[in-house]
Amino acid sequence: MQQRVVITYAKYGDTSVESSILEEAGFEVVLASEYAEADRPALWQSADALMVGIDVWDRETIGTLGSCKVICRVGTGVDAIDIPAAEDHGIWVTNVPDYSIDEVSSHAIALMMAQARYLFPHRNLGRSGNWRYRAETPIRRLSDQTLGVIGLGRIGKASARKGRGLGLRVIAYDPYIPDSDFDSVGAEKVDFDTLMRESDYITLHVPLYDGTRKLIDARALSLMKPTAFLVNTARGEVVDVPALVEAVKNGVLAGAALDVLPVEPPDPDDPVLHDDRIIVTPHIGWASEEAGHDSRVRASEDIRRVLSGERPKYPLNEPKVRVW
Ligand code: NAD
Repeated sequence: MQQRVVITYAKYGDTSVESSILEEAGFEVVLASEYAEADRPALWQSADALMVGIDVWDRETIGTLGSCKVICRVGTGVDAIDIPAAEDHGIWVTNVPDYSIDEVSSHAIALMMAQARYLFPHRNLGRSGNWRYRAETPIRRLSDQTLGVIGLGRIGKASARKGRGLGLRVIAYDPYIPDSDFDSVGAEKVDFDTLMRESDYITLHVPLYDGTRKLIDARALSLMKPTAFLVNTARGEVVDVPALVEAVKNGVLAGAALDVLPVEPPDPDDPVLHDDRIIVTPHIGWASEEAGHDSRVRASEDIRRVLSGERPKYPLNEPKVRVW
């Protein structure tokens, strides 16, 4: 019988790349967006493979899957998937860890630069014909400043390299990697509190899990320089956002730039959207034509491998029971 791949994120765009690879390999491709909400449970039940976005796959939902062999996150962050639950049900979980390293690190640096050069306040001045130098804005020379990187993995390393390229001193906190990783990007290894105290810009690149949820809370924010900025392109829940908004309001830090929020999209009344010192972008750190294409190709190829009985290239677990 023809194996069925269900794509859950189709509403976000075209799935011709996925379809061409998977149909060519002999699989049926079905878009969940073409099914009514009430028919989805039966659709999950019928899937041999799921290609997912940031939708939640918790233990309960995973328990309703029938013959599913792989859940593939067409992206990097897998915090919305209960990986141990999938493992217990004999289901591979895969992602695409390497499709947007350049994009996300560039986005983090762009957000940092926008804050460093007060780009948006100055854009508004320019638009209104106001050529007055704003002495109240403490613009600082970048090459005299320090960038702190929290999480020195793939994206953190790329951000550190780009920061070094701009002449910044780079310090980093990551307790899970060898010293040689810090050396390889010219970052000084520091502890968490030192990073929070000494950085002029802090960029977050940790995955979301219990150990990083609200890593940046009111205590951590209180250590920051009043002139410093926080940049988050990792996951919204790594930051206690109401505490951040309060801290910016009270001058504990100068501002923030967030590509990710705990709830996406946020409530239009959320105070985080209404403070000029906080820049919010709609989770587009990953985005480029090339990254979109690469993620779909790599994810589809991993689905093809699993459905053909091979090991995936990007496994995140070792399923305990093989259901096929
Ligand atoms: P990675 O796994 O290569 O690196 C993560 C690093 O964080 C690792 O070196 C790890 O040791 C470190 N780490 C883990 N726990 C830590 C802790 N408590 N304190 C300090 N360091 C810790 O991941 P990556 O590819 O660099 O991606 C990082 C995150 O970026 C992803 O998990 C994802 O959530 C996010 N992301 C966002 C976008 C976007 O569009 N904004 C796109 C891709 C990825």
